[in-house]
Amino acid sequence: MFESQPSRDPGSQRVTRRIFLSTGIAAVGAALLSLRHPHHALADEEPSHPGEPVVIVLFSDDGKRLRKVTMPKVVKSTSEWQKQLPPNVYDIARLADTEVAYSGSLWNQHKRGLYRCICCDTALFNSDTKFESGTGWPSFWAPIAKENVAEQHDTTLGMVRTAVSCRLCDAHLGHVFTDGPHPTGLRYCMNSASLRFAPHSA
Ligand SMILES: [Zn+2]
Repeated sequence: MFESQPSRDPGSQRVTRRIFLSTGIAAVGAALLSLRHPHHALADEEPSHPGEPVVIVLFSDDGKRLRKVTMPKVVKSTSEWQKQLPPNVYDIARLADTEVAYSGSLWNQHKRGLYRCICCDTALFNSDTKFESGTGWPSFWAPIAKENVAEQHDTTLGMVRTAVSCRLCDAHLGHVFTDGPHPTGLRYCMNSASLRFAPHSA
């Protein structure tokens, strides 16, 4: 995700192994990351940089589809995301936590507008596709553009689900289920915390 061609230099791998053995369990996460980033012992602290290019669709706040663009993925370090986001939002958007049902600010939001990524402002959902699911989470039957979201097989918590994330910055948004309404039969069950509501101006 960060580097397409990780170094295979045997010297740096030896260093990585030494670090791994000498820093104990507390550093296991950092050491594992350093295996993918042989030249950065603290890869987690690598500052923001452009990632691999992705295609997304830009929308104005009044819901007008503007154009497709190719943009580098937004990649930031843990500390940069923690500075940008409140702790509860960070836990949900960057660590794939789930907000408590009915606790978010958007499940009962029925104004016309766009729902954008809280991390990178990519347009994700339009109020036209929002419906009352009775779940306590904002629910939509389609994303605003299929290009703007990514879906991954998710087997955490002993369940088989499809996780949904922002294409541009990989923010965790929620999950999609197949018990939604017409016309798609899909239910995008999102976390309010991962979304920013931008009301239509008119
Ligand atoms: Zn995003």
